[in-house]
Amino acid sequence: MQPPTGFVVWLSSSKHSLVNKKRLSYTCVRQSLCFWLGHSVVPSLVYPSTWGNRKARVSCTVGSSSHQKEQQLYPHRLLKNYGGLGGKYDTRQYPAKSLCSHCGLCDTRFIHYVKDSCAFLNQHISELEYTVHGKSRALEIEDQLYFGVHLTMLAARRKQPLPGAQWSGIVTSIATRLLETGKVQGIVCVKNDETDRFKPKPILATTPEEIYASRVNKPTLSPNLSVLDTVEASGFTRIGVIGVGCQVEALRSVQSKLGLEKLYVLGTPCVDNVTRKGLDKFLRTTSSSPDTVVHYEFMQDFRVHFKHDDRVVGGSGKQWTETVPFFGLKTNQLKDIFAPSCLSCFDYVNSLADLVVGYMGAPFGWQWIVVRNNIGKEMLDLVSSQIETMPLSSSGNRFQAVQNSIPAYEKGMTLPMWIAQLLGVVIDKLGPKGLEYARFSIDSHFTRNYLYMKRKFPNILQRHVPEYARRIIEQYKLPQQ
Ligand SMILES: Cc1cc2nc3c(=O)[nH]c(=O)nc-3n(C[C@H](O)[C@H](O)[C@H](O)COP(=O)(O)OP(=O)(O)OC[C@H]3O[C@@H](n4cnc5c(N)ncnc54)[C@H](O)[C@@H]3O)c2cc1C
Ligand code: SF4
Ligand code: SF4
Repeated sequence: MQPPTGFVVWLSSSKHSLVNKKRLSYTCVRQSLCFWLGHSVVPSLVYPSTWGNRKARVSCTVGSSSHQKEQQLYPHRLLKNYGGLGGKYDTRQYPAKSLCSHCGLCDTRFIHYVKDSCAFLNQHISELEYTVHGKSRALEIEDQLYFGVHLTMLAARRKQPLPGAQWSGIVTSIATRLLETGKVQGIVCVKNDETDRFKPKPILATTPEEIYASRVNKPTLSPNLSVLDTVEASGFTRIGVIGVGCQVEALRSVQSKLGLEKLYVLGTPCVDNVTRKGLDKFLRTTSSSPDTVVHYEFMQDFRVHFKHDDRVVGGSGKQWTETVPFFGLKTNQLKDIFAPSCLSCFDYVNSLADLVVGYMGAPFGWQWIVVRNNIGKEMLDLVSSQIETMPLSSSGNRFQAVQNSIPAYEKGMTLPMWIAQLLGVVIDKLGPKGLEYARFSIDSHFTRNYLYMKRKFPNILQRHVPEYARRIIEQYKLPQQ
């Protein structure tokens, strides 16, 4: 027996179904339905648009053996009225405590699996690499040691850049094509809050317009996985997820509990993320016009590029770029802006995504693509007619620059701006380029993060630092204290 159609349509009548809106649990709603209907078979709640083309998942036979089986397979569904951590009156802590990157998992019922899934409680990248890509990275091959398992790497850019995207908008284009071609029914991505351009608001996008609205980086910790309950309640069986390393590690750990037929994971590299408060401090300390910044990037020319648009302060639409050399950053004032999670992160290159789109291994102005497996290749093929590509290159030598940066960061050294500008020009001409720049950035961050962990979290240092990161760090002389 089917539930009355009107009732189901009412329950699921908006993109953000009742389950999401009122944070009612999926199981709770479904069980109420089952109760009303005399414990008969009820298909899961779905969005009207997908009602016709999804397989009706027989999901509720309370008291029957299939119900027990479901409970064994998906124990998180038993969590009752789970409202998520971090709410106004919530006094509980996130399980990873100060190391939590607020990936969003613990705002959902999937918190049930947190002990095994959280990137900070159980770092298990190597094991997951094997599950996802069919092999772990070969540590003796330098490109794999640094960039993880991959089939190929290349430089690419959209022939017509997407206005307002972080780079040329390859991520947005791929996500849109995934949806348009019917490969997925929804995409997990993050748009900005209507009231704050930098405050992330994760969504399950079901239209190209919603994906487009999520373009550009939100340079703050973003709880992308907080929509996993919505994903489950949607009944979708094919989805795409856009995310950074810590989000993807947790996602991969609970992937088998999502009841999906197909998952496409489109990742970006990620480093030095900040809380919203930390971002304010960074902008105020570093930019000459913090209120008009719409996005920024630490670029391959050893400068931070701030993009400004005065419309955000009610101006006429004047846009400009401001550059600040890395060596001129007020390191002594900025040390505390990075989230502890990000100072403890060793998955810069998003090892577990199917396809990674960044910039740091590519020439200036191009995006850096790492195709990790066949699903990644399938995604990149979707935009082949929209992009131009070229092989990657590598030049220069990073070692001395990284070694010198270690004590400079420790001492919080800041150079006068004119010297910083001059040094920026010299390093841009003579410094590491292409993949060597990417290695420079990885080495600098891994050595810094290792020292941070050694001092702040010595008890978990051993299990938290992956073997590939150890090998990279071992190339440098670190201070003993
Ligand atoms: C915090 C952060 C730090 C980064 N650092 C580096 C780096 O050091 N080196 C490097 O090579 N690349 C880095 N990247 C990736 C790079 O900046 C671009 O995001 C990437 O090249 C894609 O550009 P695009 O124009 O194709 O993206 P767009 O088409 O503009 O799409 C951006 C996508 O990113 C998603 N997104 C935005 N903010 C977040 C967030 N906080 N968490 C999760 N997902 C988000 C959005 O959902 C959107 O779909 C970083 C990304 C982020 C979010
Ligand atoms: S990082 Fe994610 S999984 Fe870990 S405690 Fe925080 S929200 Fe939970
Ligand atoms: S730097 Fe690492 S821990 Fe921080 S948000 Fe990015 S992937 Fe997560």
